[in-house]
Amino acid sequence: MGITAIRGFNDILPSEVGKWQFVEKTAREVFEGFGFAEIRIPILERTELFSRGIGEATDIVEKEMYTFTDKGGGSLTLRPEATASMARAYLEHQLYAFDPVAKLYCFGPMFRYERPQKGRYRQFYQIDAEVFGVGNPVVDAEVILMLIHFLRRVGLEKLELQINSLGCRDCRPRYREGLKAFLTEKSFQLCEDCQRRLQTNPLRIFDCKVQTCQEAIADAPKVSDFLCGECDTHFDKVKECLSMANLDYVLNPRMVRGLDYYTRTAFEVVSYDLGSQNAVTGGGRYDNLFQEIGGLDIPGIGFAIGMERLISLLPKDKEFIRYPDLFIAAPGKGTHGEAYRLANQLHLEGIHTEFDYEGKSLKSQMRRADKLKARYVLILGEEEMKKGRAVLRNMADKSQEELPIDNLTGILKNKIGKD
Ligand code: AMP
Repeated sequence: MGITAIRGFNDILPSEVGKWQFVEKTAREVFEGFGFAEIRIPILERTELFSRGIGEATDIVEKEMYTFTDKGGGSLTLRPEATASMARAYLEHQLYAFDPVAKLYCFGPMFRYERPQKGRYRQFYQIDAEVFGVGNPVVDAEVILMLIHFLRRVGLEKLELQINSLGCRDCRPRYREGLKAFLTEKSFQLCEDCQRRLQTNPLRIFDCKVQTCQEAIADAPKVSDFLCGECDTHFDKVKECLSMANLDYVLNPRMVRGLDYYTRTAFEVVSYDLGSQNAVTGGGRYDNLFQEIGGLDIPGIGFAIGMERLISLLPKDKEFIRYPDLFIAAPGKGTHGEAYRLANQLHLEGIHTEFDYEGKSLKSQMRRADKLKARYVLILGEEEMKKGRAVLRNMADKSQEELPIDNLTGILKNKIGKD
């Protein structure tokens, strides 16, 4: 075996790509229907965008970023997520000057140095959608509604929407202190990482998978008991709007999300078909992110969907591969040129046509048409061609009919395009 791909970095092969295109196409349709516009942002950013935006004391910034010094001496990082970059672009290009409310989405690869396993890779793809410039809780519900609508449109079932409120700058510090005091009593139960997290960012302990840490936090105080009046009202309104849209949800007071910038509403959609890495998507409100990256006081809310996990959940009975519409079998020397000419015309008409390049026997060409799962085969036999005829075979029901060679493109376009 020669050179292989890096661990945690995957190829997406042609047999799989139909699923990706279907998901991306559906996302565009749904999001644009909700008034979102696509933005394309760089994969590489200055490291400080992420360290300030995501937070120094998060797993991503502490240990998962692909950071390097470039030839100019600057510290650059392959983006581990897209929200901070989208916020930077919104500020840098003053998109707020046109309209303070921006609804944006993007697709693309993210990079995190995590331990590769099923559903967890080092390069993985996300679909991101963000609304900048609205603090109103109605938009929280609207974003969640769009997300659920999209997931249903691609055919996902058996999903659970979990929500929580993480409080704001006023009430979250009180919760942190309460949690810290509670866990300090149990610090002997905590793993080495969580001993450190207890000092730097005790909320992160909720995400630790170590059994003794899970036991230590089992009866920990809930963030909901610490919310200030405004955060309480905000969360109530989100819940009311979700109910108005007939969306079922589960309150999960232990969901804290991995990034520091979240405030108030946080949400995840989990699938019990995914095993241990069960979150398909996560998101929330981040009213401090813009200030952290040196910008204005602008609220934001959004989500990121993990493409690999979403794709692994697509309905198994749905067909995503585009098979040839037509295979032209032209076994004779004299008919080969005609096959080439016809195939080129049909390509221009958007009809997926294949033909044999090697001049093989009719039997072998028919075998190939079968293997490629072509819907029709056009047989250009030398004898028939002399009579100005060709045979069209429907591969599904095996029926055959003779067609005149004149204006074959028009006839095939009508016949095959219509099916
Ligand atoms: P996050 O940006 O951490 O909130 O993650 C949002 C979504 O991205 C998750 O719900 C996963 O579906 C997906 N995701 C996050 N990290 C990875 C990873 N390392 N590999 C594959 N998917 C991931």
